[in-house]
Amino acid sequence: MADYDYDLFVIGGGSGGVRAARISAQLGARVALAEELYLGGTCVNAGCVPKKMFVYASHYHEDFQDARGFGWESTQPGFDWPTLRDNKDTEIQRLNGVYDKLLNGAGVTVLQGRAVPSGPHSVTLNGREITARYILIAVGGWPFVPDIPGAELAITSNEAFHLEAFPRRAVVVGGGYIAVEFAGIFAGLGADTELVYRGPMFLRKFDEDVRKVVAEECAKKGIRLRFETNISAIRKQEDGLVCELDGGGELATDLVMYATGRKPKVDGLNLEQVGVRTRDNGVIEVDDGFRTSVPSIFALGDVIGRVELTPVALAEGMALAHALFNDRPVAMDYANIATAVFCQPNIGTVGLSEEEARKQGSGKLRVYRSRFRPLKHTISARDETTFLKMIVDDASDRVLGIHMVGPEAGEIIQGMAVALKAGARKQDFDATIGIHPTTAEEFVTLRTPDPD
Ligand code: FAD
Ligand code: NDP
Repeated sequence: MADYDYDLFVIGGGSGGVRAARISAQLGARVALAEELYLGGTCVNAGCVPKKMFVYASHYHEDFQDARGFGWESTQPGFDWPTLRDNKDTEIQRLNGVYDKLLNGAGVTVLQGRAVPSGPHSVTLNGREITARYILIAVGGWPFVPDIPGAELAITSNEAFHLEAFPRRAVVVGGGYIAVEFAGIFAGLGADTELVYRGPMFLRKFDEDVRKVVAEECAKKGIRLRFETNISAIRKQEDGLVCELDGGGELATDLVMYATGRKPKVDGLNLEQVGVRTRDNGVIEVDDGFRTSVPSIFALGDVIGRVELTPVALAEGMALAHALFNDRPVAMDYANIATAVFCQPNIGTVGLSEEEARKQGSGKLRVYRSRFRPLKHTISARDETTFLKMIVDDASDRVLGIHMVGPEAGEIIQGMAVALKAGARKQDFDATIGIHPTTAEEFVTLRTPDPD
């Protein structure tokens, strides 16, 4: 390997790139990593971490109200946006430093700047050519905004983390993870919020019941849901912005945030010239071992368009490092990946939706459902329900999918994911003694399936 400057050159210091670089270095490889913006990538700087902080912040609004039923004579305190925004920035700067230390501690050479592959074993960075036996492209994605007149007046999640002032009114466009989470954040922090989605019901790939319950709960929290609507143009007016709607009508607001998906960040990456094949949408094509059409160049994380989640990018990075430098073949298993949407209340889900299970299997299913007002809200008097659902293959008794809408659903479903991964059957849930009084215990006391 000595003919090259490095054994591995990683382009992108996000979840996947950092993990691949650090583990490869720990396995004895000589590794360099280039990052053009911020160490830690999207998750740390403009994704999971700051988003979750905003979700926490936005929930206090209800917590102060709920406390009254429990005897706390609270008044609703005022919210100060700059305090939240700046405290979040301070924590993220600390995390950037932690990532730098982690990489340096593992022996990775961290380079600042935009790296571009220039050949099967070379990249250019800041005008310098660097060679490596292997190159890893882990450049992630970037928000996509449809090209409509006035699109430049809209923001994306990237800018939402740094707003100068908090808006009085907000329109969020899209019906995926980011749109639903940010509608909850804006509403919880006090903005008059409207979510605009092009289809008949948001959260397209989720279980139908989950989608309906989330729609109902969002509406109870004052988020106006405007489905089957597209915005054809945005224009400025004296006191804010106006969205012109496709079917006629207008929406006046102070802020428009597009959350209409993300695209691989491959513009200007020289991929065609180097021979790295991409699909029309920019996604880099890789085989099961993350190898691109150029045998010495690999890609993983959001840029390969499989599952755009941090733990998946981390697992892919880990798998690749072991395949390249520990002679252990890549074994990524994408089945039963649990996920949470941090809307309010949260969605937690693992395995198949009822619709997927019906499509995939020929066998009979048992479907268990429960919707109830959680104990806490019997006293807080909040009109919020929790929803649980379990889908079971009748013949084998195997649990195929578990879904929840409720407080801390992400925390609860993580444990359920272990059970599903281990092949749990419904009778294993039935044989498990619950923890009382909790919401999670409902998952081991579901006894009556829907009638056929
Ligand atoms: P990234 O983390 O995007 O890292 C890519 C890095 O490469 C970036 O730092 C970029 O600056 C750098 N880069 C790009 N091009 C170059 C170049 N040419 N040279 C040098 N550097 C370059 N996932 C979850 O699991 N849970 C969540 O709660 C969650 N919340 C999210 C919230 C939001 C608002 C967003 C946008 C995403 C969220 N995600 C969440 C998704 C998660 O952030 C991504 O799946 C994850 O970051 C992907 O990791 P990655 O390594 O592929 O890319
Ligand atoms: P998603 O792919 O989840 O959702 C995109 C939404 O935008 C969909 O509702 C889609 O509609 C809609 N859309 C796409 N194109 C257009 C268009 N031209 N006009 C109008 N609407 C459009 O993307 P996000 O941006 O929400 O998030 C990106 C990814 O990041 C997520 O898929 C997820 O993997 C990850 N993420 C994870 C989080 C978590 O784990 N909690 C949180 C945030 C992000 P349609 O459904 O009709 O196609």
